[in-house]
Amino acid sequence: MQKETQELVNKGEMLPLMEEFYTIQGEGFHKGTAAYFIRIGGCDVGCHWCDVKESWNADIHPPTEINQIVDNADKYSKTIVITGGEPLTWDMGPLTKKLKDKGMQVHIETSGAYKLTGIWDWICLSPKKIKLPTPEIYEKAHELKVIIYNKNDFKFAEEQAEKVNNNCILYLQPEWSKRDKMMSQIVDYVMQNPKWKVSLQTHKYLNIP
Ligand code: SF4
Repeated sequence: MQKETQELVNKGEMLPLMEEFYTIQGEGFHKGTAAYFIRIGGCDVGCHWCDVKESWNADIHPPTEINQIVDNADKYSKTIVITGGEPLTWDMGPLTKKLKDKGMQVHIETSGAYKLTGIWDWICLSPKKIKLPTPEIYEKAHELKVIIYNKNDFKFAEEQAEKVNNNCILYLQPEWSKRDKMMSQIVDYVMQNPKWKVSLQTHKYLNIP
């Protein structure tokens, strides 16, 4: 990557864009809502069950001017979901400012492992054991979405629920490949611990991106 381009990426004026698409948010509080997804490359959290491993290496995703990303989004939706990868690998300030200037609702899906940057209408915090969130994001998260891969994850979910703010909505979501095995345990757990809600990856059942 050229030095000038790298500098712009470092400032959040360009971002490694993996893909962008208009679809239905399948998960969590806003499930069922039409939204434009912007998937930013780059993540070194390293979840072994990650379903977007091709996002990890930022170098294979083209550095893209944020004005172009905003113009593309503006053609489709006023609800924007920024995901990854781990979007907080980068400074989200410049992109989210431009999206907000267009009157958009801007959501993020993040592990929270890095400094929180950007202006957000909705923060979905999906913490990962191997790289825990920063203290700041627990205070600001609107929803906590813990992925349940095996039964040990219920304990992790409770530890994370202890840390979030009181208004944060709590979700347990089966990891896709383990959904058949874990779903009945999640249902039982939520019935016994009704502060939690079940989140499903409904877009995968609908066979949409
Ligand atoms: S944080 Fe997200 S993108 Fe990164 S490895 Fe984990 S699941 Fe994949």
